[in-house]
Amino acid sequence: MEVCLYNVAPAAHLQRRLDGRSTIERVAAWVGELTARVRPDDEAVTVYTTSDLPGLPEAWKVERGDPLTQAGMIALLAGLTSDAETEIVFAFFDQPFLNAELSERLIARHRRYRGEYTFADGYPVGLAPEVVSGRAVSHLASLASEAEVLDRRGLFPVVQKDINRLDVETELSAIDQRLMRLQLSVDTVADLLLCERLAPGAPAAIDGWAAHAESHRERHRTLPRFVSVQVIEQEVQRLAYSPYPQMRDDVLAPGRVMSCEQFEDLVGQTDALSAEAVVHLSLWGEVALHPRAVDFVRSVLARPRLRVLVETSGVGWPAALREELFAIDSGRLTVIVGLDSNDPELYAHVRGDGFAEAQDFARTAVQRLGERAWVQAVRSQLTEPALDAFYREWHERTPNVIIVKHDHFCGRLSSLKIGDISPLDRFPCWHLERDLHVLVDGRVPLCREDLDAAQTGVNAFAGGLSQAWEAGDSRFAEHVQGVWNGICEQCDEYYTFNF
Ligand code: SF4
Repeated sequence: MEVCLYNVAPAAHLQRRLDGRSTIERVAAWVGELTARVRPDDEAVTVYTTSDLPGLPEAWKVERGDPLTQAGMIALLAGLTSDAETEIVFAFFDQPFLNAELSERLIARHRRYRGEYTFADGYPVGLAPEVVSGRAVSHLASLASEAEVLDRRGLFPVVQKDINRLDVETELSAIDQRLMRLQLSVDTVADLLLCERLAPGAPAAIDGWAAHAESHRERHRTLPRFVSVQVIEQEVQRLAYSPYPQMRDDVLAPGRVMSCEQFEDLVGQTDALSAEAVVHLSLWGEVALHPRAVDFVRSVLARPRLRVLVETSGVGWPAALREELFAIDSGRLTVIVGLDSNDPELYAHVRGDGFAEAQDFARTAVQRLGERAWVQAVRSQLTEPALDAFYREWHERTPNVIIVKHDHFCGRLSSLKIGDISPLDRFPCWHLERDLHVLVDGRVPLCREDLDAAQTGVNAFAGGLSQAWEAGDSRFAEHVQGVWNGICEQCDEYYTFNF
C-alpha cells in the first residue's frame, strides 16, 4: 500500500493544536491506525508539500514543490508504484479528522470488488481518503489535465472524465451530510477555526460524525467567506427582476461611489479577518461605472490569499478599463457576466439596452480569462422561453454557464420562479453562515435580501467589519433552533450558495 499525502496548507495551520493535538500529529496517527487495521504487505508514505513541514515521521518521504495540476498529481502517483495490484491511498494532508474506520471500509470495498477507484460520498469533506489501483494510474494519466490545478475534489474530476470505463466503487454515508457543506481542513483560517471548534468530542467512530456535526451547528459559522461590497449606486440597466428600484427611485441616476480609501479599508479588514475570503463587486450598482473598478480588483489581489469576483452586465465598460481587467493574470480573479438571454428582444425586455456590447464582453471574457469567466442567466418566467438555447449556445464555448433561480426577495417582488427547488426540510441559512454584505455607505444589512438594511445597526468602515460579522451570530443561533424571524420567514434564498 502506498499512502500519498498532498499538502497546500501553511505550516502554522498544521501545527495549531486542535483539542490538544496538531493536524500533523493527527494525520500521523491516522496513518498508523490505518496500517494496523488493513495490515498491508508493505507500506510507504509520501508527502508532497508546498510549504515546509516540520515534525513528520522520519520514515516518510517528503517532496517539496509548487501546487500540482491534475496531471502533476497523477504523475506523482505513477512514480510511487509500477505494481498493478498496489493500492494507493490519496488524501490531502491538512485534514485533521481523516477517519481510520471509514478508510478501512473504503479499502475493504476496493479489495472486495477489485475497484480501480474508490471514494466516499455523503460525508463532510476531509474524513475520507480516495483509493486508486496501480493498474488505473496510466489510464488516469491520459485523462488528467495539464492546466487544471488539483483542487479539493481530489482525483474525482479526473475519474469523472471517463467514469464508465473505470471500475468505480462508492462508500455511502448512511446519513447524507452534504447539505452541511463542511470542509474539515485547515488550509483557510475559516476552516481552521471550524476544525478547532469541532475537535472537542469529535468521534472516532465514523457513524458518530453526523450527530456530532449537527449538534454543534452554531459552531459552523466561523468567519465570512464571501464579502459582497456595493462600490457604486448607479446601475447601467433596469432589470425586470431586480428589487433595486425599491432601494433607489431612479437606478440609472448617478449616485454615491465608494472611495479608494474606504474600499482599501474594507479589503484590509477582510484580509485580517478571513484571509482567503472572496470579495465580490458590486453588491448593487454596475461595477463598470466605477472609474477605479480595476484598481479595486488589484487592491484585493495585492493581498496574497484573498480572491475577487467581479459580477457585471458587461455593459458600460470604458475600453481601456475593460482591457486592463482582461489583462489581469491571476487565478484569484473570477468574472461573472449576467446575460439572461441570447435573444436580443428578450434581452431588451428583461435587461434593457446593451445586448451587442454585453455579448461581446462575455465572448471576450471567455477568450481572455478562460475558466475564470462565467456567463449567467436568471431562470424565471421571463427568461424561460429562451433558456435552453442560452445554455446550449454558451456551453459550446465554455463549461462555465450558471443558471440561477429567480429571487422574490422575501416577498418584496412577485415570484417569477419556475418550479420549487427548495429542500424538504429547512436548515440554517448558508448566506448567514458564510456571507457578509457592505453597502456603499458602510452599512451592513443582514444579507442581500435585507433591502432596507434595517436589521443591523453596524457600520463596516473604520474597524467595524468584525463587529458586523459577529452581529449575525444571534440570527444564526435562531436558525439553528429552527426559528425564522423577520424577513427570514418568507425567504427562499437560504439554500442558495455563492462560494
Ligand atoms: S434566510 Fe434569507 S433573509 Fe434570512 S439571512 Fe438568509 S438569505 Fe437573508
